[in-house]
Amino acid sequence: MSQFSAIRNLQCTPWLTVLLMVLCICTSAANAQQQVSTTLEQELDRYLVELRENATAAEAMLAALYQRYYLEPTENIPLASKVRLMSYQAADLLYQQQQASADALLTELLAIADDTDNPDILSEIYATEIEFLFYQRQLSAAVLKADRLQLIAENASVPRVRYFAHNLLGRLFKADSQYDEALRHFTKALDAVIATDDQFTLRRRAYLNYSIAQVYSDLKKWPEARALTEDLIAAAKKYNYNNFLPELYLMLGFILAEQKDLDAAVTVNQQGIVAARSVNQPGVELTFQNNLGSIYIQQGNYAAAKQVLQLAAEQAKLLEDEFSSQLIAFNLAYIAVMEGQHDNGLARMLAALEYFKNNDTKAGYESTLESVAKAYGAAGKYQLQAQTLQQQLELRAEILTSEREKSVAELQNRYDTKAKSQLITILEQENDLKAQLLANQKLQQQLTGLFALVLIFAAILLYQLYRKVRQSNRRLREANKQLEYQSLRDPLTGLFNRRALQDHMQRRSKFSRRLSDISTQANGFLLLDIDFFKKINDNFGHAAGDEVLKQISGRLTKVCREEDLLIRWGGEEFLLYLDNIEPEQVAGFCKRILDVIASEPVLSDDKIIPVSASGGFIHLPFAGINETELNWERTLQIADMALYLSKVHGRNQVYAITGLRCDYTTARQALTNDLQGAIQQNMVDYITVKGPALPK
Ligand code: GH3
Ligand code: MG
Ligand code: MG
Repeated sequence: MSQFSAIRNLQCTPWLTVLLMVLCICTSAANAQQQVSTTLEQELDRYLVELRENATAAEAMLAALYQRYYLEPTENIPLASKVRLMSYQAADLLYQQQQASADALLTELLAIADDTDNPDILSEIYATEIEFLFYQRQLSAAVLKADRLQLIAENASVPRVRYFAHNLLGRLFKADSQYDEALRHFTKALDAVIATDDQFTLRRRAYLNYSIAQVYSDLKKWPEARALTEDLIAAAKKYNYNNFLPELYLMLGFILAEQKDLDAAVTVNQQGIVAARSVNQPGVELTFQNNLGSIYIQQGNYAAAKQVLQLAAEQAKLLEDEFSSQLIAFNLAYIAVMEGQHDNGLARMLAALEYFKNNDTKAGYESTLESVAKAYGAAGKYQLQAQTLQQQLELRAEILTSEREKSVAELQNRYDTKAKSQLITILEQENDLKAQLLANQKLQQQLTGLFALVLIFAAILLYQLYRKVRQSNRRLREANKQLEYQSLRDPLTGLFNRRALQDHMQRRSKFSRRLSDISTQANGFLLLDIDFFKKINDNFGHAAGDEVLKQISGRLTKVCREEDLLIRWGGEEFLLYLDNIEPEQVAGFCKRILDVIASEPVLSDDKIIPVSASGGFIHLPFAGINETELNWERTLQIADMALYLSKVHGRNQVYAITGLRCDYTTARQALTNDLQGAIQQNMVDYITVKGPALPK
């Protein structure tokens, strides 16, 4: 059917393409769930209306909106509305061939997409990106981006956005010959349109149905394509879409020819001629005429064919359409051959063939060769017919090979692009991973550093604590020592107190394994009491009395040996516990004590205080008596009795009890209760040691 070259032109005319594009970016009907600027949305709707009426005015309107709401906004515009405005402006710049500005705005939109997960906003942006690629005929790149848009558009809630996305995807897949996909998206777009109800609904539905009918036709689903196109024609007539009618007739004519319903095809083409003429589309009218001529030829109605083709020839000449002129000339020459003018007709056909060889596509030229072969057959030139058919076969093989190569190359290209983008993603992920690892390492180092620092601080802190504890321990020890000292000392004189003696005697028995050991030692008690001390207090004052006690303590300390224990026994009483004093030493020792107390008066301030003391001495153990029988406390009682005797017998002297003349059991009672009596009964040995002569 080489003659139906017009059918090869059955594609959208430019104005239709633009109109479809405009309707793609259709109005916003149900923005209820979306936070939008109602004012801006309404203005953008008005822009779309204006775009259909007056494109120049519409562009100015959009520029003003862009200025007011985007470049110099006085209020905060919700992101969804802002993105819609930016998308329109980006598309407008693109259509006006302002590539750089358009790309810059698209980049801004894609940056916004990085920061949102709102499906409506994302769909609008991704669709605009695909629209850019599609418009620039980068089909593969556009198809690659389609997955992302398909996924996100599923969740878009605004019908306008869903329509925009799915209609675009439908057009894209249709152009990519993925008809099933295209049909799926057009149907979804139609669902979105049905969800709207405004002045655009009918028109949008019509154009969508037109797209769907085209896909049916591409899928060779003729009955569906025919039914839909007939509906569309009815709707176009009803709503006076007269500009749209010729296009629809063209498609219906093509469908009918494919269905071999030639009579119906004739009628439709005739209607098309009228329709095209009424809206002043002479190019389309010419196509109808040519198609009609071809159908008449198929029907063998050469007279009718010649008539319409001659009209077409005039029209083509008028339009200066050389290609159509050649096509019509070729068809008329074919009729001439069929009508018997073999040589003349064939010569004219070959002349046109030469033109097609240089000016038509290979596929077009190939189908023309088929008609030439038929003409040779009709003229009985079978050898030439065979040659032409051979030529045609070779050309067809060539076309097939190159088409296959092209499609293989295209597939390869797509695969490469996808692989490259995956590789980029993997590299990015790897980089992310490396960055993460580095960050982790750094963090680890920082943590280690921090840990070390903490350790150092902890060590310093512990050391300081340790020092403090040691210090406070030392202080405690000192305090304890102090306390111990204080608890064993008399505060006025600094001498030991009674407790010290008790401790000492306890230790003495503890460290001696047996008391018999103690018994072998010759220790001694000398108990001293200052004479007439009350009088000293009375005569010189209590402070002077204290002074006397202190000075006497000092004097006694000087006389005593280190190992002796000097104790303040009571108010003005002193006890000397003497280590290792032999019996022969007793008299001398007692004399030294009495002398040191009484030889010199005590001087306090300007007072001269004469002092003497009386004492009682006894050995411990006494007279070899085991200390289990006569312990140190009872021994001291005897010393106290001796002291009493010193007092009674004139003071300033010491009575020293030196031995026992009878056995202890006999003397026992008398020793502690009546020492005087014991002396008189000759039970004890004793000596008296006199003190120095006292000043009068
Ligand atoms: P005698 O010769 O009989 O021992 O006579 P005396 O006055 O010393 O008699 P006595 O032992 O009964 O009296 C002791 C006095 O010592 C009683 C008390 O007022 C006084 N005295 C006791 N302790 C202190 C003290 O720490 N300082 C002063 N200044 N006087 C004390
Ligand atoms: Mg006394
Ligand atoms: Mg006294």
